[in-house]
Amino acid sequence: MTAHGIPGKVLVSDFDGTMTRHDFYALVAQSLVPSTVPDYWTEYRAGRLTHFEALRGYFAAIRTDEEHLLRLLDAMQIDPQLAAAAAELRHAGWRIVVASAGCAWYIERLLARQGVELEVHSNPGGFDPGRGLLMELPVHSPFFSPTHGVDKAAVVRHFQANHAQVAFAGDGFPDEEAACLVPGDLRFARGDLATVLSRSGTPFRTFERWSDVASHLAARRTAP
Ligand SMILES: [Mg+2]
Repeated sequence: MTAHGIPGKVLVSDFDGTMTRHDFYALVAQSLVPSTVPDYWTEYRAGRLTHFEALRGYFAAIRTDEEHLLRLLDAMQIDPQLAAAAAELRHAGWRIVVASAGCAWYIERLLARQGVELEVHSNPGGFDPGRGLLMELPVHSPFFSPTHGVDKAAVVRHFQANHAQVAFAGDGFPDEEAACLVPGDLRFARGDLATVLSRSGTPFRTFERWSDVASHLAARRTAP
């Protein structure tokens, strides 16, 4: 523990595609929005929309009832070992912080289903069957980003300023800056993040499931 009573090791983790197999936005775009909805993701990749605007566009286009939307959470395939792995990691002295450019509405529900309570920094939102999932910018967050809602790199920097060790795990394009702030042996990547890190020659550890990251860190010997 530090002088402030905060654990000396922190894992900052992405949520969609990292704690789950699939991204909520991608499942929504595939199955819960009308076919007339623009290809917001391509617009984001081309720099014509921010990441936040792309996700908000898909979420606001959802036209279904809450029951169907909740069923989609199953299709995200959250790591079934999440609760046990989080407990193991905490036992080894790690604090777990979720930093997500997605929406708290589904993150909180999925974590609750797993019976796990984690510190989450994400975008607030509420569901209305007639208007979709209405995601808002977290303008009062200390980690506010106008383009992503949550600035993951700012979360990493915050803990690095107060802790000896910060690890990061992620799978997407918005994770690159945060991932590059941590040492290579504490940088965990899969998916698009692994692709961009490979391209730039940045070392990382790959993973299949979030619980693999947790097990690796929990078993890691740390210098006194
Ligand atoms: Mg992700």
